[in-house]
Amino acid sequence: MAFARLRSIARYLARSRRFHAAATPLAWRAGRAECPACGPSLFFSIGRHPFLTRCLSCRATVTGLSLVAAIRRIHGEAIARLCAYELSSYGAAFDFLRVHAAGLSFSEYFPGEAPGALVDGIRNEDVQDLTFPAERFDLVTSNQVFEHVPDDLRAFSECCRVLRPGGSLLFAVPLYDYAATRRLASRNADGTIAWHGEPEFHDSRLGGPDSAPTFWRHSRHDIAARVSGAGFTRVEILDIVVTPLQGEPSPVVHAVK
Ligand SMILES: [Zn+2]
Repeated sequence: MAFARLRSIARYLARSRRFHAAATPLAWRAGRAECPACGPSLFFSIGRHPFLTRCLSCRATVTGLSLVAAIRRIHGEAIARLCAYELSSYGAAFDFLRVHAAGLSFSEYFPGEAPGALVDGIRNEDVQDLTFPAERFDLVTSNQVFEHVPDDLRAFSECCRVLRPGGSLLFAVPLYDYAATRRLASRNADGTIAWHGEPEFHDSRLGGPDSAPTFWRHSRHDIAARVSGAGFTRVEILDIVVTPLQGEPSPVVHAVK
């Protein structure tokens, strides 16, 4: 990855107060580590956070790679027999499962398009109301999606419905050290968004910078209870460390049906 590209990422991230340290090249670090997706590699960090740390071989962030590490840890040799569903059409888990799983379904959410229809070759799915039959998959994965879903509990419940008994949901969302999950926004009946405080948007690959409204800030302390309430029998948080450069562990929620 060229220096100019890293600098433009750093400048972009510096607009977010949370990542302002990324603007300082003095905070940038490089080091070797085992990439869960592509093996021994060089990592580059523009700040001590999983989201700011990337494998220079596959270019995935440590946040995305933590899902791959979790899939390997949970499923091991069984990955080659998995029928998997990833809630997006890109990313480290998508790339990994496309190569290693027995089958991979994937989707994006295109508002206004028919549920289950193909849009530019990508299946349209609203995770709050999936068109897949019950007990279709062994594994459902997702990176940075559920904080953007108006009814996250219904989404967890839908993921549970399409999993076979014993199947697992593995997902990453930003987890905060709050006593309880906070709702930032609600969806009005007419489709508009009612913000309960300062609006918060995140980037999306398809929609562009600051295009995805954020409905939730999930708490590390109640996320397991929220997910298990949707019908899962066991929920745990896996704290994944890929490289010391990431500064803090990258949490992945693991729920078993
Ligand atoms: Zn890699």
